[in-house]
Amino acid sequence: MTVTTSRGGALDRPRSEEWLDRHAASVMGTYGRPARVLVRGEGAHLWDADGNQLLDLLAGIATNALGHAHPALTGAVSAQLATLGHVSNLAATPVQVGLAETLLRTCDAPEGSRVFFTNSGAEANEAAFKMARRTGRPRVLAAEGGFHGRTMGALALTANPAYREPFAPLPGGVEHVPFGDVEAMAAALADTSAGEVAAVVLEPVQGEGGVRPAPAGYLAAVRRLTREHGALLVLDEVQSGAGRTGTWLAHQQPHHLGDAIAADPAMRPDVVTLAKGLGGGIPVGAAVAYGPAVAGLLGVGQHGTTFGGNPVAAAAALATIHVIERDGLLDRARHVGALLRDGMVAVDHPLVLGVRGEGLLLALVLSAPVARDVTAELLGAGFVVNAVAPDAVRLAPPLVLTDAQATTFLDALPGVLDRVLQRSGPPTGGTA
Ligand SMILES: *Cc1c(COP(=O)(O)O)cnc(C)c1O
Repeated sequence: MTVTTSRGGALDRPRSEEWLDRHAASVMGTYGRPARVLVRGEGAHLWDADGNQLLDLLAGIATNALGHAHPALTGAVSAQLATLGHVSNLAATPVQVGLAETLLRTCDAPEGSRVFFTNSGAEANEAAFKMARRTGRPRVLAAEGGFHGRTMGALALTANPAYREPFAPLPGGVEHVPFGDVEAMAAALADTSAGEVAAVVLEPVQGEGGVRPAPAGYLAAVRRLTREHGALLVLDEVQSGAGRTGTWLAHQQPHHLGDAIAADPAMRPDVVTLAKGLGGGIPVGAAVAYGPAVAGLLGVGQHGTTFGGNPVAAAAALATIHVIERDGLLDRARHVGALLRDGMVAVDHPLVLGVRGEGLLLALVLSAPVARDVTAELLGAGFVVNAVAPDAVRLAPPLVLTDAQATTFLDALPGVLDRVLQRSGPPTGGTA
């Protein structure tokens, strides 16, 4: 087989090294040198340019909820593209309306709620940020360890100084409080010397911050506080949503807001942002505004994006949600998530401290800062994961992962950890 390149030449199946050199010479270096060149996927499996088969335990970073090349997704996307691929937002399409209605249902949004469609998670958070500004209040609170995207507004919400500082000045008014600390949140809301708080922006499970779930009861306490102070509660479920934790949204878990909402529907959030898993790998995001007051914050002409709610993206999201519901993938996420968690916890190894996370958003926490070595060794053994922190390896597999596939990983893990330990010497203590 030959591959015709953009340079017009025909090459005999270039191998990974050659592709990586060409990547380095043509693609901007924002991601560092990629670990592999991938050419094909099916279900939870991937194949690289050298013909190696890999088990995908990362799913495009919590994105390919249905795995690769799922027939329902490829069918829906192909059919939509062959029917109506794109129109402007000066027109409505049945598929976009269908997705908005489906999201309002799955997000348990009350009467009067509305959806704004985006192409990414950062843009969904930008929309939420603009809603916050429209309250007229100057301040926004977000959490230390939080991640909300790389555009300037989303970056202002993101605490990590390494991401922020090269791009100062960022949009103002954002303050960061310790994650999980109700007292600190209460104090920040009560101190109005710099004005009142428009919104509190939180992830139910901090993803990029190392897969750290909010402590039980934290979101409910923050919801009560934000109600008292008239501030919006914005939940960034870009990574934790779309079924990944075993409920459609992570905050719907009983220990986050689920029990509280069951007792009092006014405990629902004001805005939920989604992207990553929503389109099963096709770029689509959404900001869901709960109730008419929040849904009305952005009026005609106050926000927009050309591709937002694109018919192909909407068809992808509808197909993804349909399959999650039809095939019981929320149950699967809970079940195989527990299997992976219990299996990793049970690994008796000096490098294993424990496991963090919920459902199929998990981190294997190590006793030494060797997550990169463990990730590289796992890749060599045929498993795709990523180092989400120096001492934590993230697993965010497709929701279709089978028990047998999870077991191959668990079986391989002790040997992988042994090899890392042999090379790095005994652990000197981790940070978790
Ligand atoms: C990935 C992520 C984002 C940014 O999404 P993009 O699609 O990369 O812009 C925002 N918030 C959270 C919680 C994320 O995990």
